[in-house]
Amino acid sequence: METTSMRWTPSGWQADDSGAGWRVPGIANLHSHAFQRAMAGLAERQTNPEDSFWTWRETMYRFAARFDPDTLHAVAAQLYVEMLEAGYTSVCEFHYLHHAPDGRPYADPAAMSQALVAAARATGIRLTLLPVLYMSGGFDGRPLGERQRRFGHDVDGFLALLERLRAEQGDMLRIGCALHSLRAVPADPMGDVLAALPAQSPIHIHIAEQLGEVQDCLNLRGARPVEWLFGHAAVDRHWTLVHATHLNDAEVQAIARSVATVAICPTTEANLGDGLFPLRAYLDAGGAWGIGSDSQISVSPVEELRWLEYGQRLATHHRNIAVRPDCDSVGETLLHGALSSARNATGNPAVGDDLVTLDAAAAQFAGMTSHDAVDRWIFSGNRNLVRDVDVAGIKVVAGGRHRDREAVAADYRRAMSKLLA
Ligand SMILES: [Zn+2]
Repeated sequence: METTSMRWTPSGWQADDSGAGWRVPGIANLHSHAFQRAMAGLAERQTNPEDSFWTWRETMYRFAARFDPDTLHAVAAQLYVEMLEAGYTSVCEFHYLHHAPDGRPYADPAAMSQALVAAARATGIRLTLLPVLYMSGGFDGRPLGERQRRFGHDVDGFLALLERLRAEQGDMLRIGCALHSLRAVPADPMGDVLAALPAQSPIHIHIAEQLGEVQDCLNLRGARPVEWLFGHAAVDRHWTLVHATHLNDAEVQAIARSVATVAICPTTEANLGDGLFPLRAYLDAGGAWGIGSDSQISVSPVEELRWLEYGQRLATHHRNIAVRPDCDSVGETLLHGALSSARNATGNPAVGDDLVTLDAAAAQFAGMTSHDAVDRWIFSGNRNLVRDVDVAGIKVVAGGRHRDREAVAADYRRAMSKLLA
């Protein structure tokens, strides 16, 4: 048995007499589209030399059209098992697959939301469900395209969905609200929805992922997306800006001042060719941030944090970028950043209570001390070093395996054969 027992706290490692080993708080995954787990690895063949986010989106729409509540449940459960085994103990689900493929609501208009709630309950991950308001197909207000119809709501239908789901809230389930993007939500409905939300509701939005979207926003709303948002909404700590990739310096300062969280999804942003978040400038401004697995091409907080740093190294030709005046460890700075935004972004005060126990017996940790443990966890290879995971006091992962790994994977295989048929 291990003789050293340490627990990670906001001020670093502290001796812990629980005998449990090396423990860090569970990581919050701030941005997930569960259904995309099923298409990970299926969009990596070139269809055109100009392939981009926009051609990937066509593949994603074709795939999205095949889901029903049962397949969504099976795919989400598999994903949540993978998240828990990787050390994520809560997930913000940015959910826009609301209706049947032809755009008509299911008999229960919350059926797809309920599939996600049930998958989270069954696997034991904390869920912040963010039903997405999706109204138009572009900044010019054009109607939704055929393949976007199942995403759409009017304001009243959307608020009714939120209200219905809020009745089920507890420590394991929070209900927030997402605006898909400025291109999908016109200004007036955005104001109506924001005015109707409860004071503590988390609000997430895709904000500036693509240069094309920044340009369209400039052309049609006369301002860059972040600039426009700050001019039209009281952005505060309840807000999470997803893919705040393309920012000018004034926007970096405005977000940092607002205490809103930026959700950075480094592996997805790399996979989609989005661009690099201006991390150093944002850290210098004191901004809050966290990570998300987004398109699920990777389900690993270690890989997200590592690539957040590596992107900056590749761009600047320097090493050890993400550090603070009081902390020269990159791993510790990154872990601290990802943990400190979790409560605001998830809207769940309980998220900091969950525990991830690292496998101190792994070869990668030989000779580990509190000085190097986090850096070794994040920067020493691809073997998963998470041993046990406890969420709300319940052990859901032991010895690296989720308690229902096999049964959930069997359901997932059945769902995949339907989705790929
Ligand atoms: Zn997204």
